[in-house]
Amino acid sequence: MSKVQTAEQKAKMKPAEYIALEEQYNAKNYKPLDVVLERGEGVWVWDVEGNKYMDFLAAYSALNQGHCHPRLVRALTEQASKLALTSRAFRNDQLPLFAKELCELLGYEMMLPMNTGAEAVETAVKAARKWGYTVKGVPDDQAEIITCEGNFHGRTTTIVSFSSDEQYKDGFGPLTPGFVIIPYGDADALEAAITPNTVAFLVEPVQGEAGVVVPPDGYLARVRELCGEHNVLFIADEIQSGLGRTGYMLAAEHDGVRADVVTLGKALAGGMYPVSAVVSSREVLGVFDPGDHGSTFGGNPLACAVAREALKVIVDEKLCERTAELGTRTMERLQTIDSPYVDFVRGRGLWFGIVLKDDAGGARSFCEKLMAEGVLAKETHENVIRLAPPLVITEDELGWALDKVEGVLTR
Ligand SMILES: *Cc1c(COP(=O)(O)O)cnc(C)c1O
Repeated sequence: MSKVQTAEQKAKMKPAEYIALEEQYNAKNYKPLDVVLERGEGVWVWDVEGNKYMDFLAAYSALNQGHCHPRLVRALTEQASKLALTSRAFRNDQLPLFAKELCELLGYEMMLPMNTGAEAVETAVKAARKWGYTVKGVPDDQAEIITCEGNFHGRTTTIVSFSSDEQYKDGFGPLTPGFVIIPYGDADALEAAITPNTVAFLVEPVQGEAGVVVPPDGYLARVRELCGEHNVLFIADEIQSGLGRTGYMLAAEHDGVRADVVTLGKALAGGMYPVSAVVSSREVLGVFDPGDHGSTFGGNPLACAVAREALKVIVDEKLCERTAELGTRTMERLQTIDSPYVDFVRGRGLWFGIVLKDDAGGARSFCEKLMAEGVLAKETHENVIRLAPPLVITEDELGWALDKVEGVLTR
């Protein structure tokens, strides 16, 4: 008989042993905090030694609905035991309903399902280019897409081609041409950059990876106007900012505007499964003919069933309204923290960047101190602590975590 390890025996592995295995066998394309998690529920996670932490990162907003939401676990397991994958060679009974529900919820005509956020952005780039050639009349291979400094849209070869972070590009050339980079939050720079060959402006309504950078009020409204005047598609990458994080279903609503094309991912399936999508008009997504684009797993019934439920959870649990309210109070509280290390705090909804002073010793050391106190957050760049708890967090839970944050910032 082969030797089968029981769950208990496996659990006897020490954190350091898991970490050593990962270091040996897994490429080092991340630098995680050294906490080895094995279980999650709502805002809480437990490591392999049974220590409990509050997740104050929420997988970069993929976990807006919290860890292992019971409704999502049920949707996943029920659908998994019925039908998981058909490929798009055949139809399934979940995709049409997911498409309808997503479009109706957000007020768009059509969607195209993919798996990861980067694939949704790639899809938007392809749609914008083909729209440029077939609808706008841009000469072949001349399409330009304008993007912003400090952007994060994913890690594919084309997407890193328009990153302004040298590390993302260094060693991965030759890069994809056809992108122009302008300063973020500067509508005049957009106006100056538009040419007759511009097909789209791709922008995050709030820049997440850049450190929760909030643009000036009215910026997106001006972007909306300029894109309309010049027949340029306004593409909002709402993969991190959308689905409740800022207190709105879509963060662009803060400026009262609708983008022409929206990319979604992360919380679209509540962290239970990788699901992404592009939503837009028939004019834009109608440019795709069979064979132009696709994905074996995109639109699979398991993904669609989970995503349908994940969207309903956001609505039923009023996550946008709760987030707007808790977010305002949290910002007030964070602003009152009198810390020698903090330069300033920015954010929207339940999404904050605590920007540290240059001599504060870096954000990572504060994240390590927070971890020791039972709060898991992650630095972004050198000097920003990002806070983004699951949106199902209660007021008491939030208060508990903010006490810890205040503690490490004032000690
Ligand atoms: C995370 C993120 C992506 C990429 O999503 P992946 O699922 O990691 O490919 C794209 N755009 C934004 C704004 C993101 O935050």
